Amino acid sequence: MIFHKWFYVDNYVGTYEIGYSPVLNKEIIVSKENVDSSSENRLKRKRIFENDAKNSEQIYTKFSNISIESEDSILAYCNKYGLPYSSQIIEEKMLWADPDDTFDNNTDADGVNVSELSIEQLKKKDIMTLKGFCNSVILVRNLLRLQSLTDAKELDSSQYMDLLSLLVFFLFFSHENDFCYDPYEDNIPKSQLLRFQYAFQLFVRKNPLARYATTAEQVGLFLYHCQFTKERGAEAAESRHFWSLVNSKSVENVLNLFSFLIGTLDGDGKENLFSYCSYGNVKFEEDVLGELNQERQEEICCVGKEVLCDVINDGLSAITPVLKLDGQSLHGDWELNFQMAGIFMEIYMETTNQFLVRQCADPTCGNFFSVSRNRPNKMYCCEACAHRVAKRKERERKKLQAEQLKVKKQPIKVQK
Ligand SMILES: [Zn+2]
Repeated sequence: MIFHKWFYVDNYVGTYEIGYSPVLNKEIIVSKENVDSSSENRLKRKRIFENDAKNSEQIYTKFSNISIESEDSILAYCNKYGLPYSSQIIEEKMLWADPDDTFDNNTDADGVNVSELSIEQLKKKDIMTLKGFCNSVILVRNLLRLQSLTDAKELDSSQYMDLLSLLVFFLFFSHENDFCYDPYEDNIPKSQLLRFQYAFQLFVRKNPLARYATTAEQVGLFLYHCQFTKERGAEAAESRHFWSLVNSKSVENVLNLFSFLIGTLDGDGKENLFSYCSYGNVKFEEDVLGELNQERQEEICCVGKEVLCDVINDGLSAITPVLKLDGQSLHGDWELNFQMAGIFMEIYMETTNQFLVRQCADPTCGNFFSVSRNRPNKMYCCEACAHRVAKRKERERKKLQAEQLKVKKQPIKVQK
């Protein structure tokens, strides 16, 4: 084990509510407490991950199992662990970067309706947009689905479609709103995968043909452009810049895997091959794809694992090892600012410690849980789910038996 001690995040944790903010023109999750209030009702810091790990309670499974359609489910999580990206922590960093950014301290907003909060009042609270929160849950959930699918021994055709959809999401759309797509403003992403996605998003924004195309056409055009640049050997200056963004060992595999998508706008029926419905939700037309053989399955799982590594690595890039002076001795520690970094750290540690991620086999549940490789047969997230499914099977068996009995009891008509 490389880690001498478990990591932790000192997150702000308050009591939260959800409401619409006219000044931000957004639905937000906002703490009732203020950070700088001298009253008792003050936003407090809480250490998370460290003690949860001792009780083997992984926060990442709790986070991915939040039901984002339910305000109660979201608030229950936030009231226990705080926000994945706390605005107060972001604020602290901005204050450090820009000491002139001071704001009015006179207003005390205790007990004020969310819709009446001014920018100054919001700045003192811990807030996050509801959409940003839900997208973070979807991102982690999709990551866990990707992990469990690429780990499966055999894929049926619906799992295969799921895996393809997840790959399209992580390769092209997962971080679409994280950049301004201005080369002077953006820091070019470090991980291969994100650079690839950045190049795609830039391509769509700069290419008038692609801008008004369907999502499937955008991807097809981009892959065509990648292949064209590769074949031309990146001679021209502009191609060289483009190629330096996308070139990696995985891009060849991606071009291979999605070769059925590569094409131009010539009405060949590919334009609606899949659609991007909402964040994290890519839907494929099932009948357009070729058969799933062993070779193709290995190919897609290989790309899937490369993508998985990159997504986790990208989440880990927000973590720094640090040296601390404790009394007279130095010891190593980890610096994690956001809860989200801790969630990626947990997934990283579970993966390197050979834990498997599973989705509960009760179709009415679908919760994620982690299971040791020594116990690979565990199918349900908890006793209650296992019990419920067993009961359901028992009821179905009895019903079937009763029906068979009924058939037997029917009088047989004897023909005269
Ligand atoms: Zn369950």
